Formats: sequence, structure tokens, C-alpha cells
Amino acid sequence: MRMVFLGPPGAGKGTQAQQIHEETSIPLLIMGDMLRASVKRQDEVGLEAQGYMNRGELVPDEVVIRVILKRLEEEDCQTKGFMLDGFPRTSQQAQALDKHLSQCNQQLDLVIYYSLPDEIAIQRLSGRKICRKCGKIYNISTLNISTDEQTVCSKENCGGEIYQRVDDDPSVQPKRLAEYHQKTSPLLEYYRQKGMLREVSANRKVEEIFSETMKNLKMT
Ligand code: AMP
Repeated sequence: MRMVFLGPPGAGKGTQAQQIHEETSIPLLIMGDMLRASVKRQDEVGLEAQGYMNRGELVPDEVVIRVILKRLEEEDCQTKGFMLDGFPRTSQQAQALDKHLSQCNQQLDLVIYYSLPDEIAIQRLSGRKICRKCGKIYNISTLNISTDEQTVCSKENCGGEIYQRVDDDPSVQPKRLAEYHQKTSPLLEYYRQKGMLREVSANRKVEEIFSETMKNLKMT
């Protein structure tokens, strides 16, 4: 199965995608994580991307397209399909993905759009913290966890440090949301017209969102 997850920052795409990945073993490609790994390594992509990321702006299309297409060519994606979280985010990226898939005689099966009002997205981003070691996402508003006091990951055998992403800082959030509305939200219509879009309200409990997501997967 080949899937794309769309929605504003803070909609919980990553949490959902991770759970589906654990349930189905479909390869999960998280664009933001791939870029953050490059920044950490300070490789060519990372050096180019980090300024944009810290400012909450989108990294140039040609950079992210190059990174994702290379990953999609790997064996696991070719045999098992993929779930894309955080890509595409612009029309140019969506077109590059379509072109790549049609060259491989493949196509997307499903695009899930997690809708969420801006004010809730901002509230969630402000309360979000992440484990540096395993990537588990903690959130006061959705998971009912008091992250202010919690500094260490509670996942079994982890104990990694919990931190707040630079771009989750309140000063950067308006820019990220503006980028989303201006550049990413036109993709909703693009995929709606292709009959691939399924909307799931993300303004609910994680378990409810997950069960509706799975229903959509099973119907495809
Ligand atoms: P995320 O973890 O998905 O919120 O992404 C973090 C940041 O990485 C974004 O604010 C962008 O700067 C960059 N980024 C992630 N995915 C893309 C993409 N598809 N196109 C451009 N920039 C991206």
C-alpha cells in the first residue's frame, strides 16, 4: 500500500503513522526526521536545510524531492509500499512524486488528511516534546501527560532525554502554519480531484483518530 499523510503541523500525523507502521510493517518515511538526521550529521542536505527548518520555512523542493525519491527506490518501498509523513508539501513535490510513481508503474492508494483548527494546532505544538532516543511524542493536550515535570522517556528500555524542538517554539509556529496554508493546503484539492483523499478529524483522542484511520485503510 502507498499512502500519504497530510495535515497541519501538530495534527498528529506522526503519531498515527507510527502506530500504523507498527501494525502493518509498511515502511514509514518521515520527511522531517530524515532532514533532522541530515542536520545532525551536518551532511550536504543538512547544511542546506537547517536554516529553513529553524525559521519554520519549507526546505527548497529540489532538496526534499532528491532525498525522498532516493529513499523510495530502496527495496523495502518497492516491495511493501510506503507511508509518507511530511511529503509532499507543495504542488511541485506532489507532481514529482506522481511522475516517479508512474515511471515505476505504481500509484498512490490513499491520502489521509488530518484536519485540525489552527488554534488547536498551536496549543498542541506548544505542549509537544519528543524523546531524543526513540522519537516517542509526548503531549500535554492529547496524551494528558504533564511533560513539564517529565524529562526522561517512559517507554520500556528507553529512558532517553525528552526535549522541545526548536521549531515548536511559539515564535516559529505562525510561520509554519502560514507555510502550510499557503503551500500545502492546495494539495487537498489536488488529491480530492483524483478521488484519493479521506478526511479524518484530528481534534479527538489519539485512539479515536487511529480507529478511523484504520477503517479508511481497510476500505481501500
Ligand atoms: P516536520 O517534522 O514534518 O514538522 O518538518 C519539520 C521541518 O522540516 C519543516 O518545518 C520544514 O522546514 C522541513 N520539511 C519537512 N518536510 C518538508 C517538505 N516536504 N518540504 C519542505 N520542507 C520540509
